[in-house]
Amino acid sequence: HKANREGNSPVTPVRRQYLKIKEAHRDSIVLFRMGDFYETFDDDARLVARELDITLTGRSLGKNLRVPMAGVPAHSVESYLARLVRKGYQVAICEQLSDPALSKGLVERDVVRVVTPGTVFEDSLLDQRANNYLAAVSIEGEQAGLAYADITTGEFAAAQMPLAQLSLELGRIDPAEVLVPRSILSYKVAAEGIDIQESPYRLTPTDDAPFEHETAVAALLGHFRIHTLESFGCEHLPLAVSAAGAIVEYVERTRLTAYSAGSRVQLNNLSVYSARQYMALDSRTRRNLELFEGGRGGQRELSLLAAIDCTRTAMGSRLLRRWLGQPLLDLAALEQRLEAVDSFYRDGLARGAVAAALTGVADMERIIGRVVAGSVAPRELLALRSGLETLPELGERVAGLGSGLQWLHTGLRPVSEVTELIEAAIEPEPSGAVGDGNVIRSGFSDEIDELKNASTNARQYIAGLEQKERERTGIRSLRVGYNQVFGYYIEVSKSQTAELPDDYIRRQTLTNAERYIVPELKEYESLVLNARERLATAESDIYRRICAQVAESAESVARTASAIAQVDVFCALAQAAVDNGYVRPVVDNGSVVRIREGRHPVVERVLSSGEYVPNDVELSGEERVLMLTGPNMAGKSTYIRQVALITLMAQVGSFVPAAEARIGLVDRIFTRVGLQDDLATGQSTFMVEMVETAAILNQATPRSLVILDEIGRGTSTYDGLSIARAVIEHLHNDPRLGCKTLFATHYHELTQLAATLPGVRNYSVAVAEEGGDVIFLHRIVPGGADRSYGVHVARLAGLPQGVINRAWEVLTDLESQGENARKRLTHSAPVQQLTLFPAGSSLADALRALDVPNMTPLDALNKLYELQEQAGSMA
Ligand code: ADP
Repeated sequence: HKANREGNSPVTPVRRQYLKIKEAHRDSIVLFRMGDFYETFDDDARLVARELDITLTGRSLGKNLRVPMAGVPAHSVESYLARLVRKGYQVAICEQLSDPALSKGLVERDVVRVVTPGTVFEDSLLDQRANNYLAAVSIEGEQAGLAYADITTGEFAAAQMPLAQLSLELGRIDPAEVLVPRSILSYKVAAEGIDIQESPYRLTPTDDAPFEHETAVAALLGHFRIHTLESFGCEHLPLAVSAAGAIVEYVERTRLTAYSAGSRVQLNNLSVYSARQYMALDSRTRRNLELFEGGRGGQRELSLLAAIDCTRTAMGSRLLRRWLGQPLLDLAALEQRLEAVDSFYRDGLARGAVAAALTGVADMERIIGRVVAGSVAPRELLALRSGLETLPELGERVAGLGSGLQWLHTGLRPVSEVTELIEAAIEPEPSGAVGDGNVIRSGFSDEIDELKNASTNARQYIAGLEQKERERTGIRSLRVGYNQVFGYYIEVSKSQTAELPDDYIRRQTLTNAERYIVPELKEYESLVLNARERLATAESDIYRRICAQVAESAESVARTASAIAQVDVFCALAQAAVDNGYVRPVVDNGSVVRIREGRHPVVERVLSSGEYVPNDVELSGEERVLMLTGPNMAGKSTYIRQVALITLMAQVGSFVPAAEARIGLVDRIFTRVGLQDDLATGQSTFMVEMVETAAILNQATPRSLVILDEIGRGTSTYDGLSIARAVIEHLHNDPRLGCKTLFATHYHELTQLAATLPGVRNYSVAVAEEGGDVIFLHRIVPGGADRSYGVHVARLAGLPQGVINRAWEVLTDLESQGENARKRLTHSAPVQQLTLFPAGSSLADALRALDVPNMTPLDALNKLYELQEQAGSMA
């Protein structure tokens, strides 16, 4: 190989060209256009063959040089591209820049675009109902800057925040790709902030240069064609500016010369926000509360989003998803949303009309993005127009809902200059590609009309020629035809060529026929061909001009599209409220969370109507810890999550599943759910549990809502009980915390805590016992549970009767023996005194060796029995 490259046996020019291009795009898989295929070579080929399951071949590209090659057909490249990008690869698309038919020697080639997960534009690569964000982070000391953009909709935002908050913000945005300057990738502080090793996002290491302040400022000024960043309000946020500048640079760099010159990616004005504007929800909490995916399989249908997403447009659906992930902390903004939902809630007629008008409205946000990028199809322009044409109706309906919605109504500008232009310029049923002559509406351009006329007339002449020549020659089988090589010709069967007039010039001989031209035919032919060519150029030019003109109104269209998305969301939330029986919550600055007859919005939909048992809750500064005991399967988790979900929905501006709800603003929801093995990250359940618990204890504020489900369960009973108890005491006593806590546990021993801690209230899930069977009533009642009903539940689960009987025996025994230990535990003794076994005792070792989370109940009981025997023999 080496010899080949050095030229002893020279490689082909195409190989040299390829190597040079690959050198410049080492981080990307290079798709190298060769005729009807995009080829990959060398390692790229091996990788692509493996990932896309296509055949690895080879190609000779020099003397004694055969390189691995794998290719995909150009016409279906998008689906292959989608698969590579989804797998996190970056792909450089290298096109042929000169026409192979015309170029002598090597076809000119270069990369026109680099496709990365955060910069995809193609519809087929995107989820319609979710944003696709590209983010960039910049870190200095304890501060971080974060910027993110969705290049398909133009959304662009940046903020600066304490480093500790960065991962939370990233969780909220859930970017497809994050740009990180190389210098901080190895930097320990950064590792804490973004957790490089375990980052769920695709991190793209980037040069430091674009992040440098002056470079970043210049990039932003250039992109927005402005002279100062003042209007964005980010002069004092250097890290936010640096991240935003890096985004602009990256977007421009990866899109290279993608579309016609002068096209750009549309990023709306940079909106500078504060991370403190939104309720904080870490990614685990999002998952635990099943905001976007629920159930065991993570299905969308079992999520909160699915329960309330009645939106009619992709724009609305994306907005609702965004809102759910970032509940507000601003009362005025919340009131505005609630009022809007309420207006639609009260007016069923308006709701129906708006929903009908919105049905079928295209994704105007993404279409306008493509207009600006110069890659919009004629049909999309028409879809944009019909979207805009719903505005008078939408506007009227919104205006009809009262002056309270004036702010929303103002946003719904019809942008008539755009609708009128598209109406006048684009054929209502366009067909073929731009340039084929069926895109620009007749009457819009004299030039196009004339060219079309000329070409039609010439075509008609040629069509008439056949008849004329048949008459002239008397040959009835004579026909006029067309092919690529010879153009128009007259075909006469061989037997009849003797009688032909003198002006017939022979062009081609076939087996049974001869083909001729006559001068007149060629004249018309050049008229047709000429007209066709000029038409193609003219139509493309005019189409490009129309797009450029629409692009001038891009900002107005984007604003209108965003207003439509809001109308869609308000109308949808009202519809969900009507369908599911939600009420408008009262949201205030107080410290009380009071819910009457609350329900879990997702669980209630799974059950048949009337089956769900509603429950109340009251949390306040005085009663801030709610201790919920009850057997497994009684409904504890459902209950504590429902409180969190109702709170979250209220702060999104949605109505809530309850008879009445008053929510004092919550700044952050924490969740800790026990017994979920985090196999993905390889951490033991118990370790994960403790790390999360520590995070809560360190970060909660009096405005936070903490949901603890079965903490301390990942370890032995006494460890677990001790930790659970210590955690509650801390949450309760630390004046800095004072957060509202819902604590669900099957350790009924913990109910004793209420006696010593004034802010702790005991509740339990009511259970009816009928002839040894338990019936779960799902009703939350004051007072603690006095037992766990574990053996009952085991019986319900179908454990053999013999095992159940034995378990009863063991339990009775243990209860009498353990009484003293439990007393020590739950009354006042400090944790140290809980040492049940002297250090180093074999029993302690045996206990430590147990892998409790992975034991079946039967194993556990057997083990317990064995340990008891052992303890008996020790005594
Ligand atoms: P736990 O946390 O106590 O083990 P879960 O909250 O997981 O119990 O609830 C178990 C099941 O009970 C749920 O899947 C649901 O079907 C049902 N359930 C829970 N709460 C209610 C309720 N309020 N009304 C009706 N069914 C409920």
